[in-house]
This record gives sequence, structure tokens and C-alpha cells, in this order.
Amino acid sequence: MSILPNPFNTPLWDDHPWTPLPPLEGELEADVCVVGLGGSGLNCVQELLGLGARVVGLEAGSVAGGAAGRNGGLLLAGTAMFYHDAVKALGRERARALYALTLTELGRTEAATPEGVRRTGSLRIAASPEELSDCEQQLEAMREDDLPVAPYSGPEGRGLLFPTDAVMNPLARCQVLARRAAQEGALLFESSPALTLSGSLVTTPQGRVRCRETIVAVDGRLETLLPELEGRVRTARLQMLGTAPTRELDLPRPLYTRWGYEYAQRRPSGSLALGGFRDAGGEAEWETTGEPSQEVQGRLERFLRDLGVHAPITHRWAAPVGYTKTGLPVLEEVRENLWALGGYSGTGNVIGAILGRLAARLACGEAAPEAALFTRPL
Ligand SMILES: Cc1cc2nc3c(=O)[nH]c(=O)nc-3n(C[C@H](O)[C@H](O)[C@H](O)COP(=O)(O)OP(=O)(O)OC[C@H]3O[C@@H](n4cnc5c(N)ncnc54)[C@H](O)[C@@H]3O)c2cc1C
Repeated sequence: MSILPNPFNTPLWDDHPWTPLPPLEGELEADVCVVGLGGSGLNCVQELLGLGARVVGLEAGSVAGGAAGRNGGLLLAGTAMFYHDAVKALGRERARALYALTLTELGRTEAATPEGVRRTGSLRIAASPEELSDCEQQLEAMREDDLPVAPYSGPEGRGLLFPTDAVMNPLARCQVLARRAAQEGALLFESSPALTLSGSLVTTPQGRVRCRETIVAVDGRLETLLPELEGRVRTARLQMLGTAPTRELDLPRPLYTRWGYEYAQRRPSGSLALGGFRDAGGEAEWETTGEPSQEVQGRLERFLRDLGVHAPITHRWAAPVGYTKTGLPVLEEVRENLWALGGYSGTGNVIGAILGRLAARLACGEAAPEAALFTRPL
């Protein structure tokens, strides 16, 4: 395998100027303290501002320094389950309502950050005859419920086309959201890890926030921050690599294949971002450091070369994400006035934004009827 590029563990997306935010120093008062400034936390902050709340946001590293700024950038409708699996697990009505919610969210994401989102559609490409037959079942279930899908056959292979899905630079989008929230009055701090958490007090190395409610919007490592979620959320690392601009592979739309394990998008510059092979790393991938490993990076590189792409690999990176056994995320008041959201099982760009806003509403005592779609027992 080629030598890891320098800087180590930096995503392909990290090519926009960003002025770091200061760390929190001293004591502040807020209505709500949001811990974690990834896509979910930032959507939460935005909703809180809309509700008239005084908001402090704390980020351990930099804005979207976790999975939110290091992912594949696919904006997919639906949950972590394929639609027909969701129907089986959740019932048709609930699966359909959840899917509809994510379709609306896609429109909202595009409207909020039109500069960063491209409505290309997405492809699910079958990697085996079994998977092709599974695609057919998914097609049937989605058509029965009038959801946007079509069979697909093209240079990428055979499978399904989801015409309303989209793609983005995930880091750039979060940075736009953070700048906007700060302009609208949120007090946001980087390099400010929450060391202790309660519903009314959050402490960091050099400061503290007194608040009425606390919302923890952290996907990977959620169970280490809030031990009451151990056994329900488990952290794994997901890995990607990126190439120099190339014309060797044309991908007009992002795609995922082999049951969603592998995924790729081609940026407008021609660079490819490719992720996957979590399963190839075995037990070792259930870890929390979020650093790339030789094993998985080697598999990604072979896969890329087998696709006929010989462009130099310029980036290799990883990040932690939370998985749940049910495939549904966590949205819960885990302690008095202390809310937790996360555990998106590898697909949190759309659902995380929805949950961020729902958590904001719940914490402010506002109606949030859609929350039940996530929280109702199976
Ligand atoms: C390689 C990879 C590819 C992926 N591809 C896709 C995809 O294409 N589409 C998709 O929908 N999803 C994808 N995902 C999943 C998706 O990225 C995540 O589910 C989603 O970004 C989670 O966002 P979040 O804001 O909830 O959490 P996070 O991104 O985990 O953000 C939480 C933030 O909290 C901070 N934090 C942690 N602890 C503390 C603390 N104590 N105090 C303060 N701050 C703290 C972290 O630094 C982090 O910035 C992928 C994930 C990875 C890793």
C-alpha cells in the first residue's frame, strides 16, 4: 500500500478557508447548551435560535471535525434500513412517514445551503445477483407507496435510481451553518470539550455554561459521553480515501453498492471520494479513535484500482459513528433536562438534521409530533 498522505487523517473536503472560533473561557448563561457542532448540533442551534432561545454551542475540536465533516456527502432519503426492510421492521405507515420526513428534509437542506448541495439523484448498485433481487423487492415496496425510485441499468451497473437524492461537501455545508448561526446570535466555541454534563451545567477545561437544558448532539462516541446509552449505541470507525482530479471514472451521481458498505461521489473538480469496507476490518473497526487503518485503506485502494482509477490518492481519513441494533437513532432525555441524539448507523446527514431540530423543540417544550416516529417502541 502507498504511504499515507500528509496531512494524516484529513478529509478531501478540507479545502475551504475557516477562521477558528475561540475556546470558551469563563462562565456563560444560556437557555440551551448544545454539545457537539456537527450537522445535527448545528441544525439544533438553528432551530433554537428560531424559537428565540439563547444558545451556547460547544465543540471539542473544530466545527464538523467529526463524522459530519468527514463523510461521503451523500444526502439520501430514508433511514439506515432499505425501504422494504424498514416496512418489515417498523410497519408500512411508520416507514412511509419516516421516508416522507426525509424527503422534506432534503428539500430543506437544499434551500438552506443551495451553494453546497447538488440534486443529482443517487444510485444503489447491486454487487451480486442476491442484491439485485433485493433491489427488486425494494423497488416494489417503494412503488407501492408512491416513493421516488426507478430501476437503473448503466455504466455503473444495475440497481436502483433515487432521483431526488443529493450530494454535498459535508464540511463546507456545516461551516456555512456555523457562520450563519454565529451571525444570528448563537455563541459558538471550538476547542471546548464538555468535561462534565448535566441538564443545568456543562463544564469545559476553561469555562462553564449554566443553562436550563443541555442537548448532546454527538454521533460517534455518544455512549462514552453518556454511559447510560452503553449497550444501545456502539461506536465504529468508517473510512474513506480521496484522489486527485481524474477523468478515469465518470460518476454523474453518487452511488453505493454491496448493501451500502461501499459508497462514492465525484466532486465537480473531478476528485473521487470513496468509502467502505467497514466489514473487512472485522472487530477492529468497532473502535472510537476514528483514525484510518492499513487493512481497510488497503481494501479501498484495491477497489479503486480495480475500477480502473490510477490517479494519485491525496487523502485518507476516518471518523467515528454510532450504530444501534434497531437501525433507528436515539432521541431521548437521558437525564433531567439533558437530551441525547445520535446513533445514525452510518447515515446521519439527513436524519441527524431532523433530529437536531426535533431535540430543540422538545427541549423548549414545543410540539414535536414527528419525534414519535423515532422514539415509539418497535
Ligand atoms: C467515512 C464516513 C462516511 C459517511 N458517509 C455518509 C454519507 O454519505 N451520508 C450520510 O448520511 N451519512 C454518512 N456518514 C454518517 C454521518 O457522517 C454521521 O451520521 C453524521 O455526520 C453525524 O453528525 P452529527 O452532527 O450527529 O455527529 P458528529 O459528526 O459526531 O458531530 C459531533 C461533534 O461533537 C464533537 N464532540 C464530541 N465529544 C464532544 C464533547 N465532549 N464536547 C464537545 N463536543 C464534542 C465532535 O468533535 C464532533 O464534531 C458517514 C460517516 C463517516 C465517518
